[in-house]
Amino acid sequence: MKTFPMFLRMNGRTVVIAGGGEQAAQKCRLILKTEATIRLLAPALDPELAALHRAGRVEWNASPITEQSFGGAALAFICTECAETDAALHGLARAAGVLVNVVDRPDLCEAITPSIVDRDPVVVAIGTEGTAPVLARQIKTRLEETLEPRLGDLAALAGRLRDLAATRLSPRARRDLWAWVFGGEVRRTHARGLEAHAARRIKQAIETGEIPTDCTAPVALVGAGPGSSDLITLRGVKRLQEADIIFYDRLIDPEILELARRDVERVYVGKAPGCHSWPQDRINSVLVSAARQGKRVVRLKCGDPGVFARGAEEADALREAGIDYEIVPGVTSASAAAAALGGFLTERGRTDSLVLTTARRREGDEGADWLTHIRQGSNVAVYMGVQAAPEIQATLEGAGLADAVAVRIVSNAQRANQQIVTCRADALADTITRENVANPAIIFLTQDRPTTVAHRPLPMRTAPDLSVVA
Ligand code: SAH
Repeated sequence: MKTFPMFLRMNGRTVVIAGGGEQAAQKCRLILKTEATIRLLAPALDPELAALHRAGRVEWNASPITEQSFGGAALAFICTECAETDAALHGLARAAGVLVNVVDRPDLCEAITPSIVDRDPVVVAIGTEGTAPVLARQIKTRLEETLEPRLGDLAALAGRLRDLAATRLSPRARRDLWAWVFGGEVRRTHARGLEAHAARRIKQAIETGEIPTDCTAPVALVGAGPGSSDLITLRGVKRLQEADIIFYDRLIDPEILELARRDVERVYVGKAPGCHSWPQDRINSVLVSAARQGKRVVRLKCGDPGVFARGAEEADALREAGIDYEIVPGVTSASAAAAALGGFLTERGRTDSLVLTTARRREGDEGADWLTHIRQGSNVAVYMGVQAAPEIQATLEGAGLADAVAVRIVSNAQRANQQIVTCRADALADTITRENVANPAIIFLTQDRPTTVAHRPLPMRTAPDLSVVA
């Protein structure tokens, strides 16, 4: 950020506007929205500015402009409509230590006026640091459409009721109250012009402490998607914004955390490969204790919380503790990886089974579960398979499938560093090493030729199958 947005308190401040024509009048109209005093510096004023002066809304100084003319001002706009004069006045204003904006001269601007969406006291300022004024206008138009004209009045009403809410409600109940007020029915009622009715509803909620909320469970197990911040669901974003505390993993993109409230507590419970990690039972217990403290908890997991994410263990711990939870699904990596390949997880007439599986073995398990699913018409997506690649290859070779299986690997699917590699099964381990395929990756295995051996051995299966067959 080359410029930093701030809202300045304007009450008791002076703004100097140097110029007496239309550009000066534009700035004057803008600053008249604030509580600042306006000092016009110009030998003559156009009729609009002259009328404002006569009405006592602006001061006017027609003497030759000097450094002192800017004395004590917080901000100066220079818009004499003469380039040389503007440049000279810029020097005087700077010498007086005033922040200056020279109209149409970005190179001479210490302060830049943003595009403004005005629903006073709700004000949105949009800036592009001069790079894309058209984009700023487009954003402004979108916001003008989204923010109903009466929104400022509703915000002002909320402002008047804040003290009452603070004396009656806990901080958490207050957040629920305002989320309810601005998030739905009350806002719609107010926008339709039923302001007194909306005010009564809010006061009633404050007085009774009964706040209608659509947020049912105190804990949400939220799927963040495969890593890019626009692949989380809208419900997931909503839960992030409601959260008091977020427990997140290593594969979570920092941009996704930016979608949460600024003052949310963020706790990293990730497991970096080869490093010290949080044991699962510790994660379970921090979730339970945060919920017991009355916090609204989000457990943010990459992909979908129901796919190789140990969500079930966390859910069990919450259930045992008598704490409600909600599961918010996410885009699982296999979906993201298939899309990255420009393909589909199933295809009518070609792929009729989809298997989500992992190369990680269950304790005490001898065989490779996924192998039983390799057949023509099946798409097998292997999670956590990069390290196990030599083993996967050996298993396929042992089953006589080495040259019958096509392999497509998508590493970091849907992220900036996405990598796609394809090979045959008998070249899997070498390809991963040669191409430097990094974690996290999905390895798709599809049998596209008949096997070279007539009877491939199937592993014995004693434990129930963990993989998901769709
Ligand atoms: N719950 C997650 C899976 C977590 S297990 C989901 O639904 O996707 C971790 C594994 O997920 C990784 O080893 C890798 O196989 C896969 N994975 C996660 N993010 C990925 C990404 N962006 N691209 C490819 N694979 C990914």
